[in-house]
Amino acid sequence: MRIWPSLCVLFLPLLAEAAPTRSNRTSSIAVVGAGFAGLAAVGRLRELGFEDITVFEGSDHFGGRVYSIPFDKARLQQGAQWVNGHDNDIFRIAKKLGLIIGEQADNDVYVRADIHTGTCTINRSVIDEFYNFTDPLEAKYRKMGQDSVNYATALGDIYAKDYRAFVKKVKRRAAERNMIDALSRFYIGFWEGEMGAFYDYALSNFHFWDEGEDGQAKSYVLNSQGYWPISEYLKSFVPDEMIKYNHFVKKIRYSGAKVEIRVQEGAKSFEYPKQFDHVIVTSSLGHLKRYARSMFEPPLPQKKIEAIDSVGYGNLLKVFLVYDKPWWSFNGSSIAALWVKGCSPTHPLMEYIHTITKLEWDKDVLVAWVSARGTIMIDGVCYGRPKHSSAEGDDSSALGVQQTLLGWWVLGDGGTCDFEDLLRWRGDSSDDLPNDCWSV
Ligand SMILES: Cc1cc2nc3c(=O)[nH]c(=O)nc-3n(C[C@H](O)[C@H](O)[C@H](O)COP(=O)(O)OP(=O)(O)OC[C@H]3O[C@@H](n4cnc5c(N)ncnc54)[C@H](O)[C@@H]3O)c2cc1C
Repeated sequence: MRIWPSLCVLFLPLLAEAAPTRSNRTSSIAVVGAGFAGLAAVGRLRELGFEDITVFEGSDHFGGRVYSIPFDKARLQQGAQWVNGHDNDIFRIAKKLGLIIGEQADNDVYVRADIHTGTCTINRSVIDEFYNFTDPLEAKYRKMGQDSVNYATALGDIYAKDYRAFVKKVKRRAAERNMIDALSRFYIGFWEGEMGAFYDYALSNFHFWDEGEDGQAKSYVLNSQGYWPISEYLKSFVPDEMIKYNHFVKKIRYSGAKVEIRVQEGAKSFEYPKQFDHVIVTSSLGHLKRYARSMFEPPLPQKKIEAIDSVGYGNLLKVFLVYDKPWWSFNGSSIAALWVKGCSPTHPLMEYIHTITKLEWDKDVLVAWVSARGTIMIDGVCYGRPKHSSAEGDDSSALGVQQTLLGWWVLGDGGTCDFEDLLRWRGDSSDDLPNDCWSV
């Protein structure tokens, strides 16, 4: 998994060898968002001597998309999970806090996947053929991305062309072609998980991506606390009284001498009594796509609106399935539960649950990675109860789907792997602060 820009640009005050001399800066500053970007911005501002800072956070906690679900004494990482590369501040903090327990290649979940196809027999030679086709693609796209002519070419478009050429080469029986299409969907899903987008991912990103000194993109694996201690570390530079939780910023008026802010706090919508000299907004691209037109007064310049509209982003969501004991066996690094046409009677959602991984630190938990449209579809089918609780009032078909979700795919027999609990962020499309969408 790779890092996203907002994490890359963090400035982490206490790690700096020599902090600049504090001056008495009197400007007042509003910061929208207490995710990593907002917390790090406040840390840096305070280091520079600014103390008149108010952070508006729409939810009831700090951390943003790095927030995780407490689970026994550990944390389930709903958002950021791996630290990408070692030449960055996040890595340095993780190291300092003793969180790193291992490393893996970025493409591990794809390259070392155990392929499952429900009831169909697995044709190993077709799988090998497909992997031989995809193996050189990343290097090829990286090279293309170095040429400014290709900067804006979308990964999805160029891959679609290569894929068409690949399938044209050999005339196949329908079953084989269905298998190849499913593998192709898995490959796309891998990139959706890896980069957050596929069809909107420009080749220039490959060029600008820092591979580290040995040319091998690496992800560092964190212990059972994951990113949480890093969030706490960033928060430690931000006094509690600076953060206004449950203050959702609806409007930022910035035409006069001072910035005025309208907030929503529960059912109450009001002008915040204090006015500010400056405002820093750290809302995600997904948030801006939805609210940028109504959030600013005067409106943002047309160029910025166009940029917000046209820059793509992906959707990614993790679903944690807790079992009383493992029923699976992994040979590789992940389970690729392929949605092969004609193989298993399955819910279309499974097209988007492309990868299933285990937790490094809990043998009873599986993590299902859902991407693209699946993050919205899952609200309709996959939010039931664990098998031991009363299902009264639940949509029984939804319950059925979730209980057989993995069975059909992985075992091919359905229903034999009921989970004890299902945990995920419920970031449905009606949320004011959708958390399942993230921008690259
Ligand atoms: C499933 C998933 C997996 C990921 N995996 C990784 C990974 O392995 N490694 C990695 O480095 N990164 C990963 N990321 C990305 C990483 O989590 C984000 O890049 C990072 O958390 C972004 O931080 P941020 O502060 O910019 O934004 P956010 O975390 O989105 O913080 C913004 C904050 O602002 C608040 N906010 C927004 N608008 C308003 C408003 N109008 N009023 C008030 N409050 C507002 C939000 O509630 C939020 O708390 C992953 C993300 C997801 C979703």
